[in-house]
Amino acid sequence: MAIQWFPGHMTRAKRQIQEKLKLIDIAIELLDARVPISSRNPMVDEILLGKPRLIILNKSDLADPRMNEQWKQYFEHEGHTCAIVDSNTGTGVQSISTLAKEILKEKIDKQIAKGMRPRAIRSLIVGIPNVGKSTLINRLAGRSVAITGDKPGVTKGQQWIKAGADFELLDTPGILWPKFEDQMVGYRLAITGAIREQILNLDDIGYYAMKMLCQRYWTTLAERYELSEPPADCEDNMEIVRIMEEVGRKRGCLMSGGRVDLEKASSIILRDLRAGKLGRITLEAPYDDMPVREVE
Ligand code: GDP
Repeated sequence: MAIQWFPGHMTRAKRQIQEKLKLIDIAIELLDARVPISSRNPMVDEILLGKPRLIILNKSDLADPRMNEQWKQYFEHEGHTCAIVDSNTGTGVQSISTLAKEILKEKIDKQIAKGMRPRAIRSLIVGIPNVGKSTLINRLAGRSVAITGDKPGVTKGQQWIKAGADFELLDTPGILWPKFEDQMVGYRLAITGAIREQILNLDDIGYYAMKMLCQRYWTTLAERYELSEPPADCEDNMEIVRIMEEVGRKRGCLMSGGRVDLEKASSIILRDLRAGKLGRITLEAPYDDMPVREVE
């Protein structure tokens, strides 16, 4: 999805979400488990105005399982409840309403103490484009039919979707923007396919992906492309280019004169990475940003 985020769009997106906050008990903040920080909106705390929140590491099936746990702990350490989810297959999705109930327990208990029958928990999914909001909404909705929004305060055209007996969500998610001022964020989102490659230079995205693969997933990389010698120094551009050229040669990406077509090599690497051919990969580490050692 290509959204051009200009300041006006951001203001509108923020306002739209804040309008919906009035209707809900809890916000569900969706992050891409492979890039939990880069897929996070830089103003999310400010936008959600202290609303109770559940953080979801989505696309966890594509991310490194050990890193999923580390990231979960990281967000818990920050005081959030966090769930590891794969919206495509539904793994982890069933825990969402239970966790929401736990987060809102105090409020629910108070209602019960007052003799009120607690109504269904109402929620809103928020996240940057392509993080899996619609997929998760469909998963949560399951076979249940959307119920029409004839409740007070529901914006025209919006509906509550029932997800189980006591959990509802708005059918239109809140769309947030990523933090594009940071070029690294751009590369990481481009690697995962969240933003279109055309915005950045394909060679550069490929180079950046290769650097991270060399740093953290050398064994898988070497196996896939039958590479022999790891880079002596991952910070050395020439070493990374050497590996890219090796991959290019192995895959027949040659130009006239025998030079390696780095753009083609980049395409192959990115395609393999996104298709999971290089295994489950996480591009960001919580405490030690991209440590220069391979994850065992
Ligand atoms: P939205 O823009 O946030 O609504 O994102 P979508 O729901 O359209 O999802 C974007 C892409 O990510 C689609 O191709 C989905 O199939 C895919 N996707 C969403 N969730 C998952 C997930 O948990 N695992 C995997 N592997 N793919 C997912």
